[in-house]
Amino acid sequence: MVKRNVLLNPGPATTTDTVKMAQIVPDICPREEEFGDKMYQLGIDLLGTVHADPAKYTTVLFCGSGTVNIDVCLNSLLPEDKKILIVNNGAYSSRAVEVCEYYGMPHINLKSSVYEQPNLNDVKKALDENPDIAMVYTTHHETGTGVLNPIREIGQLAHDYDAIFVVDTTSSLAMIPIDMEEDNIDFCMASAQKGIMGMTGLSFIIGNEEEICKSKNYPKRSYYCNLYLQYDYFKKTGQMHFTPPVQTVYAAIQALKEYYDEGEQDKWNRHQRVMARIQEGLKELGFKEAIKPEIQSGLVASVLYPKDDNWSFDKVHDYCQERGFTIYPGKISDNETFRLCSLGAIDVEDIDNFLIVLKEALKSNNVTIPVQY
Ligand SMILES: *Cc1c(COP(=O)(O)O)cnc(C)c1O
Repeated sequence: MVKRNVLLNPGPATTTDTVKMAQIVPDICPREEEFGDKMYQLGIDLLGTVHADPAKYTTVLFCGSGTVNIDVCLNSLLPEDKKILIVNNGAYSSRAVEVCEYYGMPHINLKSSVYEQPNLNDVKKALDENPDIAMVYTTHHETGTGVLNPIREIGQLAHDYDAIFVVDTTSSLAMIPIDMEEDNIDFCMASAQKGIMGMTGLSFIIGNEEEICKSKNYPKRSYYCNLYLQYDYFKKTGQMHFTPPVQTVYAAIQALKEYYDEGEQDKWNRHQRVMARIQEGLKELGFKEAIKPEIQSGLVASVLYPKDDNWSFDKVHDYCQERGFTIYPGKISDNETFRLCSLGAIDVEDIDNFLIVLKEALKSNNVTIPVQY
């Protein structure tokens, strides 16, 4: 029916036909109670993806890409005269730093190598030296590199120092199993087109309801993107404050149903076997990765450009793209890499097919195989 492309970029990911088709519905005014009920139930069902107890946690939906969540959490959850500690080892935590700079919010940018996990002693030291830190923020899976961060340990440190812990889980939620309580998370976030394998345009924050209520009188730095305002409006009216992405909501509902049908662990196993096949194929072709295996997420491989005059990422990309496979540039500033990701509704046989095409792409560009460094 619809052409199926295998997206190896870090989201939006390949979706199932049933999720695509779930968007084709009769026209509906989203202010109808029927639609409000659907969003309410979606919020409840999303809690299950991180084992969040509905008595303590709630979902707040926003219209926008994943970055809206980063913006909302940072600008809405910082009390007067307090600071944010950003544990930053990658492009997505750097984006959070930019948000803080943009709003002029007091923050500490605890920057460390993008090739390594953050050092927990440094996190502790920053908390020790700055008793005014009210929020610790980090990224679970740094999608730019594929490094997975030790959120449970960072969250524990945050709580030891009475700070809330906010985590960007956009590229891990509904892929890598997460547990709000065990992982010491107060707020996490994602977007419908990533782990749950829905469509773009709907993002959601799962967070501690008491903390959201506390934030009611915190300094206000945005109108459209204020967490309490959006939460409170939905609570009172059963509606998003402004127009929701209607068709994307229908797709998300279907995607979440398919998530629960597949199962948390089985889905994670699938992503891992897809990545294992990607890495096996890369190795056969002689490619090297930028990140050591022990700290990889299992969802993104950052591959170093070979040293070969005939190597051209763009040409290889175009060759693969024409044949239904999308590969993606890297996001490491001091190194030339490209990325292959195991997100989305794909499985090992898609990678088998991709590897054939990748090899042809190298051959047709006269790149030496195995590739040289
Ligand atoms: C995809 C992603 C986001 C959201 O990025 P958008 O460009 O707004 O879609 C945020 N954080 C992480 C870790 C991501 O992978």
